[in-house]
Amino acid sequence: MIQKSNSTVTVNLTTLKQNLETLRCHVDENSRIMAVVKADAYGHGAVPVAETLEPLVGAFAVNDIHEGIELRENGITKPILVFEVPEQSSVSQYRVHNLTATISSEEHFEWLPNGTSYHLNFDTGMGRLGFPPEKAKRIAQLVEDNQELFCTGIYTHYATADNPGSQLVVNQHDQFKTIRKYFDDSLSGHISNTGATAFYETDQFNMVRLGIGLYGYPPGETKIEALEPVLSWKSRLVQTKRIAAHSTVSYGANWEAPQDGYLGVLPVGYDDGIKRSLTGNISVRIDDKAYPVVGTITMNYCMVYLGLDQYEPGTEVEILGSEENARNWADKIKTIPYEVLTSINPKIPREYKS
Ligand SMILES: *Cc1c(COP(=O)(O)O)cnc(C)c1O
Repeated sequence: MIQKSNSTVTVNLTTLKQNLETLRCHVDENSRIMAVVKADAYGHGAVPVAETLEPLVGAFAVNDIHEGIELRENGITKPILVFEVPEQSSVSQYRVHNLTATISSEEHFEWLPNGTSYHLNFDTGMGRLGFPPEKAKRIAQLVEDNQELFCTGIYTHYATADNPGSQLVVNQHDQFKTIRKYFDDSLSGHISNTGATAFYETDQFNMVRLGIGLYGYPPGETKIEALEPVLSWKSRLVQTKRIAAHSTVSYGANWEAPQDGYLGVLPVGYDDGIKRSLTGNISVRIDDKAYPVVGTITMNYCMVYLGLDQYEPGTEVEILGSEENARNWADKIKTIPYEVLTSINPKIPREYKS
């Protein structure tokens, strides 16, 4: 992959471990932690994140088989659950790489080669993947009938756990509890994502699946005390110039300078992950002082109004940090931190700080 050298993403692995310990306060004593590192660990880099967390968690989860293989090829040995629906063309890879499949449809019992481990997924209200709850008895029979496959867990996924107080969470929890009774107690049972773990007293069964919280963000509007963003993003001004009052900046000429001052050009734009829809809505920081990004965000550049402050080209600029972060960006464009983080171009080099 060709790297982009116009900016650097820094991932603080100490903060990652601190967030895990913060979340651990919400995890029951008998629950193990599965760290969710899908989508390249929400854009943070799956391998370094998994290497850092491996001594501290019980298992990992990824979305697809290729993400699981990447972890195995980089020496990760803890169990890895693959969420995606198995594809007949690649089912042999689960056993080859010691990955745990997800069975969510009856034909998967036939597809998976002997010796493959799997978890069962039930759809208790998310309306996405999994068996309907009323199939629990039949699926329990199929587990019995397929002894050459190894059932090691059973799970479901909440649709509304990102904030406290959802009745659907309670309903899904109760349904899962009923389903669970058809299966052996020794299986891993898991239902709780970050939100359910932090905001609900409902049963965690014996495992939780933590994603966004590890990276320092609560899933919804409700704060989780002491979480800190793991990722920061910096670049440098490539040009600075005087700008006269009333001159306009960028495509559409939609912004004009309020007074004579200075403008800085940053070599990052929507291709890098600064969504064009953030135009007019974000600030960046130089020496901890906030400056507005002005004019339409372009593919490879955006412009910063410096007022009367004069900076040299090469001056370091913080794009995302603890003040300007994925949460406030998300709020401005009606999305969630997950999308902001996974939109940062993977070609931007990641630097790891421990
Ligand atoms: C992404 C995902 C998680 C993690 O959710 P967070 O809100 O990031 O904690 C857990 N379970 C499943 C099935 C997921 O897809």
